[in-house]
Amino acid sequence: MSTADTVSTDVLIIGGGPSGLATAIHLADLLKSAGLERRILLIEKGASVGSHILSGAVIKTDVFKSLLPDVDFAEIPFNAKVTKDAMMMLSENGKIHVPFHPPYMSNKGNYTASLGQICRYLAKKAEEKGVEIYPGFAVSEILYDNGKVIGAKTIDTGVDHHGNQLENFQAGNRIEAKLTIFAEGTRGSLTKKLIQKFDLAKGKNEQIYSLGVKELWSVPEGNIAPGEVYHTMGYPLRDEFGGGFVYGLNDNKVALGLVVGLDYEDPTFDTHNAFQVWKTHPFIANILKGGKLVEYGAKTLPEGGWYSLPKLYVDNAMIVGDSAGFLAMPALKGIHLGVASGMQAAKTAANAFSKNDFTENTLKQYDDFIKDSLIYKDMYPTRNIRQGFAKGMVAGVLNFGTDLVTGGAGFVGKLKTEADKDTTKKLSEYKKTLFHERYKNKLEPDKVLTFDKATDVYYSGVNHDEQQVAHVKVNNPQSFKTVNIEEYGAPCQYFCSSEVYEIHTDKNGNKELRIHAENCMHCKTCDIKSPGDGITWSVPNGGNGPDWQNM
Ligand SMILES: Cc1cc2nc3c(=O)[nH]c(=O)nc-3n(C[C@H](O)[C@H](O)[C@H](O)COP(=O)(O)OP(=O)(O)OC[C@H]3O[C@@H](n4cnc5c(N)ncnc54)[C@H](O)[C@@H]3O)c2cc1C
Repeated sequence: MSTADTVSTDVLIIGGGPSGLATAIHLADLLKSAGLERRILLIEKGASVGSHILSGAVIKTDVFKSLLPDVDFAEIPFNAKVTKDAMMMLSENGKIHVPFHPPYMSNKGNYTASLGQICRYLAKKAEEKGVEIYPGFAVSEILYDNGKVIGAKTIDTGVDHHGNQLENFQAGNRIEAKLTIFAEGTRGSLTKKLIQKFDLAKGKNEQIYSLGVKELWSVPEGNIAPGEVYHTMGYPLRDEFGGGFVYGLNDNKVALGLVVGLDYEDPTFDTHNAFQVWKTHPFIANILKGGKLVEYGAKTLPEGGWYSLPKLYVDNAMIVGDSAGFLAMPALKGIHLGVASGMQAAKTAANAFSKNDFTENTLKQYDDFIKDSLIYKDMYPTRNIRQGFAKGMVAGVLNFGTDLVTGGAGFVGKLKTEADKDTTKKLSEYKKTLFHERYKNKLEPDKVLTFDKATDVYYSGVNHDEQQVAHVKVNNPQSFKTVNIEEYGAPCQYFCSSEVYEIHTDKNGNKELRIHAENCMHCKTCDIKSPGDGITWSVPNGGNGPDWQNM
């Protein structure tokens, strides 16, 4: 039987997205200038850096110049500079070009990109600076000593469905670190535990999320130019908050997706299927005409904004990027804020190393650095905007206007949020037409323009070891049956964009949940949106999950 090896490091970074990589790069630079030699170790659950990265993406790039001051900007693999930036209001077959940019939404000077490619590039830069990067390892547990974080442990492998050790059992590694950085992205599974253990969200708004479903297409020359950027509002959404995006990339590729706030009420709402309906709109269908699907994926985004940020540090640990909730609403941009938060955490960490003090007393500087950075400038003025849309589009737009004239304060002060899982209505309470009734004539995929979930999942390259404990767990099977399945109609079968959840009905009409964890794309919607006692998502074996190459 293998026992856990212990590895010691100065810094452990959990997650190889833009925020974790920026922390690593900037900290390596700062320690070098201070003449300090320290070990920085970054662990990523994807088989390679980038394989679990999904974004739109149109990026505000200035922060990359600060992160990599010695690099020629043209070397960073951004795609195309934005050449056209339009907002469309869609009805079922019509469109109105909105003649102005809603505030905060202009993409002037921004670049389109594959965030996965950017992360691969950043990983190379980090390694050149001496950072050790280990992809293919999932971090599953936080290590504590006397109630303080002392690092984390990677998952045990070689266990069966029940958790029994098999012949190939391999205990995970204990990684002990002076400082641990949580950079797990949206709804981080360990960050969630850290926030709960230390009550870091006390007095803060509930974090709320949206789900983005995306496809990458290859289209005939002339359908869309590199750098052409479109955002859409309206069809096929009704009461749901959200919209579509279409980004023209080099080599006749186009990235497109639909992002929908998870605070909707309809228990049968299905973002994947809404996305397929959206593609049938003539404006989108024309852009895709003659093209082919290349890749598919889904991921959530934290949308709560400034008032939903948890306390960002505890003794020996800090939180960066989407795990903290650094995302600019309504631009729906988190990459530059992820990088910026990583840089501020790195500055704090460098000071902690020079004082050899990793307590909250030193790490609280992180708050001041955030307030002095572009993060505050981007997030504070928009702190009340998203909450307004919980009451529908009209109320949301009026509140948006109020925020604009009051510098974000609004007329009634801080607006609250409600957890996404609590906004879903029971089937008996939802009085409007259910999603699948609304679009019943549009939900049959033609496998040319529109696809079912199984086909789309195939285009994510997803793969999970058969022998492991299912990484999605129904928290209370009894209440799940009576509440989630019977009262709510099992929303998981609709909100999951990769068909992980299936309801099987036997000949007596009994309904039973079947879980296909092998399809999971790690979007975490099930952890966020399941009503009642819900579902918990944790990391599967390292290297398992999607294998995105260009997202
Ligand atoms: C559909 C969509 C469109 C978007 N469009 C844009 C856009 O156009 N512009 C923009 O600026 N932003 C956009 N965003 C937001 C942006 O992608 C995120 O804000 C950004 O990626 C956050 O970076 P991060 O490093 O915090 O997290 P991530 O990019 O999610 O990276 C986290 C990494 O940590 C790894 N990880 C997680 N848990 C563990 C663990 N326990 N052990 C080991 N590894 C772990 C993950 O595998 C992942 O690689 C979009 C997001 C979505 C979903």
